[in-house]
Amino acid sequence: MTTAQIREKYLQFFEGKGHLRLPSYSTVAPDPTTLFTVAGMQPFKDQFMGAPAVFDGVANRRVTTAQKCVRLGDIENVGRTRRHLSLFEMMGNFSFGDYFKRDAIHWAWEFLTGAEWMGMDASKMYVTIYKDDEEAFTYWTQEIGLDASHIHRFDADENFWPANAPLEGPNGPCGPCSEIYYDRGPKYGEDTWGDYFQTRESARFLEVWNLVFPQFDRQEPLADGTPVLRDLPFKNIDTGMGLERVASVVQDVPDFYSNDVFAPIVARVAELSGKPYEGEVSVSHRVVAEHLRSVSMILADGTPFSNTGRGYTLRKIMRRAIRHGYLLGFREPTLFQLVPLVVEGMSSAYPELRDNQAKVEASVKAEEERFLKTLEGGIQRLGGLLSGMERGAVLSGQDAFVLYDTYGFPVDLTLEIAEEYGITVDEAGYAESLENAQEIARAGSKYGKSELFGGNQEALEGLARTEFVGYDELSVQADVVALMGAGERLSHLTAGSEATVVLSRTPFYAEGGGEVGDTGRLEWDGGAGIVRDTRKTPQGVFLHDVLVEEGELREGVSVRGVVSGERRATERHHTATHLLHAALRAVLGEGVAQKGSLVAPDRLRFDFSHGSALTAPEIAAVELLVSRWVSANFPVTWQEMPIADAKAAGATALFGEKYGETVRVVRVGGSVEYAGQPVSSMELCGGAHVRRTGDIGAFVILGDENVAAGVRRVEALAGDAATAWVRERLNAAAKVASLLNTSVDGLEARVSGLQSQLKAAEKDVAAVKRQLAEAQMGGGNGGAAQTRELGGFRVAALKLAGLEGNELRGAADKLLDQSGADMVIVAGEKGLVVKATKDAVTRGAHAGQLIGKLAAAGGGKGGGRPDMAQAGVTDTDAALGALDTAF
Ligand code: ATP
Ligand code: MG
Repeated sequence: MTTAQIREKYLQFFEGKGHLRLPSYSTVAPDPTTLFTVAGMQPFKDQFMGAPAVFDGVANRRVTTAQKCVRLGDIENVGRTRRHLSLFEMMGNFSFGDYFKRDAIHWAWEFLTGAEWMGMDASKMYVTIYKDDEEAFTYWTQEIGLDASHIHRFDADENFWPANAPLEGPNGPCGPCSEIYYDRGPKYGEDTWGDYFQTRESARFLEVWNLVFPQFDRQEPLADGTPVLRDLPFKNIDTGMGLERVASVVQDVPDFYSNDVFAPIVARVAELSGKPYEGEVSVSHRVVAEHLRSVSMILADGTPFSNTGRGYTLRKIMRRAIRHGYLLGFREPTLFQLVPLVVEGMSSAYPELRDNQAKVEASVKAEEERFLKTLEGGIQRLGGLLSGMERGAVLSGQDAFVLYDTYGFPVDLTLEIAEEYGITVDEAGYAESLENAQEIARAGSKYGKSELFGGNQEALEGLARTEFVGYDELSVQADVVALMGAGERLSHLTAGSEATVVLSRTPFYAEGGGEVGDTGRLEWDGGAGIVRDTRKTPQGVFLHDVLVEEGELREGVSVRGVVSGERRATERHHTATHLLHAALRAVLGEGVAQKGSLVAPDRLRFDFSHGSALTAPEIAAVELLVSRWVSANFPVTWQEMPIADAKAAGATALFGEKYGETVRVVRVGGSVEYAGQPVSSMELCGGAHVRRTGDIGAFVILGDENVAAGVRRVEALAGDAATAWVRERLNAAAKVASLLNTSVDGLEARVSGLQSQLKAAEKDVAAVKRQLAEAQMGGGNGGAAQTRELGGFRVAALKLAGLEGNELRGAADKLLDQSGADMVIVAGEKGLVVKATKDAVTRGAHAGQLIGKLAAAGGGKGGGRPDMAQAGVTDTDAALGALDTAF
């Protein structure tokens, strides 16, 4: 079965299951989270979030695609290991709130093992599932009939999408996944399924398909770190089957390079170079064949070679291919001749290849010319260096680096050519120089938070955990270990640019445990920058968001990191949070459990379980307890210890929080008394704290509110923030008091006096208005009103000055009563009221319909019941004038 046939069968299979077949999206990523499209689901992120599943006017919540994906994470291994391609086709079936796990599992199984489909051997199938996904386990074992020994359970780092989402995010749709593996048999290695996942080295077990079950909406975790996974209102399915991997299995060839797609390209490489595809040089055959495929596709999708961003990445792939071509002996542009083979193999599914073939060939050829010239320049220079050296000598790492950096001359060529002269190269020295490698920083470019702190996975690779010294020191000397932006490593930052900086050690606290990340400054010889925020990766690498103010910041430079004075205010709020927690438990009972917390320089927020609103005396008691701790000025200490010891000592741990073996315990060294009992504070916590409780200063609770069923939120201030807040309130009260000609103490009496006065005055006004209406109505018989016969009804109309709303309705009642009319219309300054007697209504009168007509004439709107209606108008005379024509 050819690769094209497998692709077609897959799409047909899922069309048969009601899916809409859509074309592949471009290799240019549909959203800025990645440079290239990396998965079949990526173009459908909106649909997974609930956007309507309508494609070119066709609505369908089941979709199937073959998506070309570009993944460069393993690029150095492409051609060496045989599992990863830089360009591969991911076959996918997707459900946007339609079918779910059960169908996804059954269909994947049917497609892989069904005789009329892939016909793969069912006894050689293995799967992985998320450790808590009993639902998937049941389907695999009881419905599919897979033996439990063929199933492995893994944690969220392996079997969750996105990996580790429950603990680390991002927020949004996520869910467990189940991967399907195929055992390729003894010719590919030992049967090591049991410990395969220790090494991932075996070529025997090949992951062919990943079924992802996005069923949760991940929310911000509670402050104690407890993950919050809500059920999505609708559940999705996102699967990815590696087309080339399945082709290798079905065609029973050892790797990609022997399958129907690659074999002709590899054969052509052998033919062009005159070197057969075997032995050591085979890596080069594979690299050239594989890279030409991805380069052709990326170029056809409109990304040209360039020195930045996507185009730069493309150039790196191309140059790796040219370098391996050079090793194969190509000294003239040659690789462009492989483009027609790529086009032939893939253009039935990807017609853009054929449409752009001439352009792609020309681009590849031009890039080959450019880079081969570079290589020639490097070879001449290297030849100059080497011919001046004796056999057995060592070429310095710096020389090799300059060749690479200035001439773009790759080090493996340097090694090879040096060897011909009997000279070795100081590779360690080269690696060191390379660490300071220069890429042009994109000056002035601004990255969003997510780009500064997320999306740097590749750039972060290989970086060690950062040493954090900020509990004790707020200013230290450190080295710049790495600079990165938008996922790329940068060699330096110029003034005005902002990017992520990693230091060898740091005093800056990284956001965590509810406490905000530190801000501050970096200073170095010849420059300075602002640290705007600090976060850390799950691996413990601290990321500083730095804006360079002056000078240039380079990798390797020694800098002084100075934490802003705000940190002290944050520490006050953090220790105050612990005391608040302990005080709440003392006053409200042990049922109080922390549910969330924010610790910032200017405030603290604490969410906890409690069923009812706090009373004023409870708030006062809690506040007083905290203040007593503060005035006792107890020492605050912290210490790392085994978790068992911490628990034995009675430290408060957060429910549901996962702690490591060793924990940090923060203890306030002294207790205060409440209701005859001592109250103390000892918590597991990684945050920054004051040295003594007296450092907290003033403490004030601002209030308490409901945030969720059974969860209350208290906001409070400590230190200067509390003092300033209290002062502001006192000033405001004093100002109001002076407006009311009294003191703050006299305010309550003064205000209630004013309220009674106001009530009395309102009563008087109402009485006066009633009199005003009566006077205008001309005594007891409504004589001031004009009464006419209209449409068979006696209609009385009256305009009253100085009256509105309620008073108009009262006047209308009176008029109806006194005038003997069937209907009355009373107009005020800006309003109309129409009333009709019961008798008139039975004869067909309708106040609501009448007022509609009058209001329209008076520039307003109105309506109501048959017996009573009112309207607001801009011109009451015009409204009344329309009366004659309204019946
Ligand atoms: P692996 O662990 O083998 O690197 P993955 O878990 O990163 O794969 P997924 O993101 O689950 O892969 O992608 C779905 C499927 O796409 C995989 O099951 C595999 O068949 C295929 N696939 C993923 N990456 C590659 C690649 N670089 N080259 C070829 N096929 C791939
Ligand atoms: Mg996978």
